[in-house]
Amino acid sequence: MPYSGEQGVRIGPAPHGLGVFSLRSFRERELIGPVRGTVMEDPQYESDHCMEMGDRSALEPAPPFRYLNHSCHPNCALVELEVARPDGTRRGAEMWLEALCAIAPGEQLTIDYHWPAEHAIPCACGCPDCRGWIVAREERNRDELGRAWRQAGAAG
Ligand SMILES: [Zn+2]
Repeated sequence: MPYSGEQGVRIGPAPHGLGVFSLRSFRERELIGPVRGTVMEDPQYESDHCMEMGDRSALEPAPPFRYLNHSCHPNCALVELEVARPDGTRRGAEMWLEALCAIAPGEQLTIDYHWPAEHAIPCACGCPDCRGWIVAREERNRDELGRAWRQAGAAG
């Protein structure tokens, strides 16, 4: 899908599939852009790219942020912002991407997927503190991760 780079990022090849890369520098805590997409109200909804919203709905993101990759040491995070209409009435929450640290042009933008242990897959983010799995930090010791580990070992 074409994306013109209006949010200061581009979609490009990453070590595993596509990723999102900065076209300019961002300051720590700078809001990079809104994550557009389709809100799925079904709490059971699952897909490879969907992002959980606080109210139990999920967001199926559109490009470019559809292609955000996971890192165990990410430089970005998703934040939910309350957005008001021009007349001041509440419009609801919007998902935005925020820089966690200063980002230089050309860097890949990454987030922590915070997946539960039962959805964990091996991580290849390459950080010195990589958890080994794409999984939320607090889920690292759950039984389900042990099972996923054994299945991956059996498959590979
Ligand atoms: Zn990792």
